[in-house]
Amino acid sequence: MDFEVPDKMKVIIEMINEFVDKEIIPLEPEFAHNRDFREMLPVLEEKRAMVKKMELWAPNHPREYGGMGLNLVEHAFVSECLGRTPLGHYVFNCQAPDAGNIEILHLHGTPEQKEAYLRPLVEGTIRSCFSMTEVEMPGSNPVMMATTAVKDGDDYVINGQKWYSTSSDGSKFAIVMAVTNPENPTYLQASMIIVPTDTPGFNQVRTIPVMGEAGTDYTGHGEILYQNCRVPRKNLLGGEGMGFVIAQERLGPGRIHHCMRWIGICNRCFDLMCSRASKRIISPDGKTLSTRQIIQSWISECAADIQAARLMILNTAWKIEKYGQKEARQDISMIKFFTAGIMQNVIDKALQVHGGLGMTDDIIIPFFYRHERAARIYDGADEVHKMSLAKRILNGYADREVR
Ligand SMILES: Cc1cc2nc3c(=O)[nH]c(=O)nc-3n(C[C@H](O)[C@H](O)[C@H](O)COP(=O)(O)OP(=O)(O)OC[C@H]3O[C@@H](n4cnc5c(N)ncnc54)[C@H](O)[C@@H]3O)c2cc1C
Repeated sequence: MDFEVPDKMKVIIEMINEFVDKEIIPLEPEFAHNRDFREMLPVLEEKRAMVKKMELWAPNHPREYGGMGLNLVEHAFVSECLGRTPLGHYVFNCQAPDAGNIEILHLHGTPEQKEAYLRPLVEGTIRSCFSMTEVEMPGSNPVMMATTAVKDGDDYVINGQKWYSTSSDGSKFAIVMAVTNPENPTYLQASMIIVPTDTPGFNQVRTIPVMGEAGTDYTGHGEILYQNCRVPRKNLLGGEGMGFVIAQERLGPGRIHHCMRWIGICNRCFDLMCSRASKRIISPDGKTLSTRQIIQSWISECAADIQAARLMILNTAWKIEKYGQKEARQDISMIKFFTAGIMQNVIDKALQVHGGLGMTDDIIIPFFYRHERAARIYDGADEVHKMSLAKRILNGYADREVR
């Protein structure tokens, strides 16, 4: 494939980068120090209005609902720019988990569901969450699901305990995965159901403390008790028993978005590392950190790693666009654990180069260090991806003569 940034995207990327530098990065100190995200909402709304005015709103979402309608490769470049700051995707309304929920609603929502949930999500007037992982069950093997949705007249009655329903706090609705058809084969037992968060029986117990912070609103990871939570059967998404099939569809593009966001984080940390190394004088003769071989070695290795991951992701996005998600399954697994690992190393090296300053919230690196550790766990833990990739690679070798 041709890795040249498409002409159409060059202008967009320049505009986004300028906006990120001028309008979003200056908000980071408040974000890093402010423990209540809700206090930042007014200023973030102002920035969101500016993005709308620039016609850069909801870049990956459908045009007919007010987005830019960029394809996967085009949005990959956008996600990279926005990833440089933890607030980037939110300000442009392409943040997880709404981005994934928008895709689900677009592909599987009824006209009524689209009007009630998809349109306001793309407009940015509401937020949503995705409620699949359970406290007592292994998220790595989600077919082991205890939450049930039992039919009762025209309703489903949902019972179960979920956690890590990211951004549930302040969300208008959750897309909940629950077992509706225990009699079906394992992968066809669960369904996705829209549950408005003001439904009686939708109880957010807490936002979970994660790496020292229990976030609020968009930054909170909710633990939710569904207690006889009754919703109409018309809230079902895409057919009974189709939950895992839909979840699979959601993950491919989602991984491209996440991985390119991580490349954005790598780029930011790499720039900070190079800048610090070039300016920090470490000996009386005025030599800087950047004169030391070990630092030079880190810088070269990080540059090569970032480049490798970036090209792998773009290639995977291109493959999904051209041949479909099924053909790109190996690549999707590969980029997920590969990029997460590289990001972790780049963040760590950037932090190390900053010494004591690297531990302070005066700079953004420790925020990334804390919050992006999760990249090796969510959307499939490293080990699960490696296992499934190896299985596919090894498939057929037992019967094949290799010389
Ligand atoms: C920050 C964050 C945000 C999240 N957001 C959401 C969300 O919005 N919605 C949602 O539903 N969930 C969300 N999750 C949950 C996430 O998807 C699960 O944590 C993940 O799927 C792993 O499941 P688990 O935590 O139950 O770990 P387990 O399944 O118990 O696995 C624990 C560990 O065991 C190892 N392991 C598991 N299986 C294997 C295997 N087959 N072979 C070898 N080793 C293995 C891995 O190292 C894994 O990390 C989020 C998690 C985090 C950390």
